[in-house]
Amino acid sequence: MNIHEYQAKRLLRDYGAPVSDGRVVLKADEAKTMAGEMDGPLWVVKAQIHAGGRGKGSFNEPEAGDAGGVRLTKSVAEAASEAEKMLGRTLVTHQTGPAGKQVNRVYIEDGSGIETELYLALLVDRVTSRIAFVCSTEGGMDIEEVAANTPEKILSFSIDPASGLSAFYGRRIAFALGLTGNQIKQCVRLVSQLYTMFLERDMEMLEINPLIVTDKGDLKCLDAKMGFDSNALYRQPDILALRDETEEDPKELAASKHDLNYIALDGEIGCMVNGAGLAMATMDIIKLYGAEPANFLDVGGGATKEKVTEAFKIITSDPQVKGILVNIFGGIMRCDVIAEGVIAAVKEVGLQVPLVVRLEGTKVEEGKAIINNSDVNVIAADDLADAAEKIVKAVKG
Ligand code: GDP
Ligand code: MN
Repeated sequence: MNIHEYQAKRLLRDYGAPVSDGRVVLKADEAKTMAGEMDGPLWVVKAQIHAGGRGKGSFNEPEAGDAGGVRLTKSVAEAASEAEKMLGRTLVTHQTGPAGKQVNRVYIEDGSGIETELYLALLVDRVTSRIAFVCSTEGGMDIEEVAANTPEKILSFSIDPASGLSAFYGRRIAFALGLTGNQIKQCVRLVSQLYTMFLERDMEMLEINPLIVTDKGDLKCLDAKMGFDSNALYRQPDILALRDETEEDPKELAASKHDLNYIALDGEIGCMVNGAGLAMATMDIIKLYGAEPANFLDVGGGATKEKVTEAFKIITSDPQVKGILVNIFGGIMRCDVIAEGVIAAVKEVGLQVPLVVRLEGTKVEEGKAIINNSDVNVIAADDLADAAEKIVKAVKG
């Protein structure tokens, strides 16, 4: 789960990390009062969406003005007017996709004078199964770009959880970032604060880009992105309360509410499968037969009829779906339950596209009988290859 920049900065402040003073604005008529609570001479107005690249982004509507999602203003009135222009409008960045994201909140921040922009992040390194630091002198840019063009400008190392973090690591980062004097002490402190919060709050990712040296020579977190481990949210109720469902893919949101493992993809074949391994194999074989999967969907081992119905609804709500492949291996899952769910779902939401069903395993005869005895137009398949071939043929002709 991700949170907004202003929420991330509140957490940073709680842990003592240096951030600017700021106010979140939800309604345009509050902007002037909020901006007026800060002294200036610079007010930065920042669109709050769960996507990076806001500064270089752009709005479709002319009313939003020419500037991107991060605007430097010189007065309270100007800050309020820029906030008003952005609120309710759709910001497109390289991370939002062409549809963009609606700006429902802006953050007005006490602007900083910048000496240098740096990069600092923590993440879970899946190779070493440890928390890793990534830092670079090339702040304010996409780290992916830096990694591709000038990988020598990135320092990355992981922390042994047994010995934990020592000041040595903070100094190592400070020297890599070219910091001097008091900044080294500030960096050591910041690195320790970030590591502590990363652990305590079950984060998956914490990115400060840019971390700046201000014109007064101090370190400050100018942007903040945080991602949290969804499996740990049960013990982070105050983090869970920061969830902004308007930022999530509506289909993925519906799926998460029904405990379905669903990820939207770009293809045309909707898949309903039980088990993550079988789901991946199904996606592979769809590709092998010349089409692309529209989603990853694992209904899980013990799916009920209701869950299957919900999964079906989510798949059919995607206008890109031109055909559906149901591929079930009944182990714990019973094929008759799946069949009942599919029939119930088709009756409820209708069927506008071809549907191929392949059932195998526990209660397969009962499952097939339910489908054959229904008046739903299903193409039956015997095995995985047969199923993939049939659905691709039905969609592509
Ligand atoms: P992003 O584009 O979504 O990553 O948004 P950021 O918060 O990183 O802001 C983009 C850029 O705007 C930064 O890299 C800075 O160059 C600039 N910026 C943001 N806040 C300030 C500020 O307080 N003062 C100045 N001078 N520039 C800022
Ligand atoms: Mn940034």
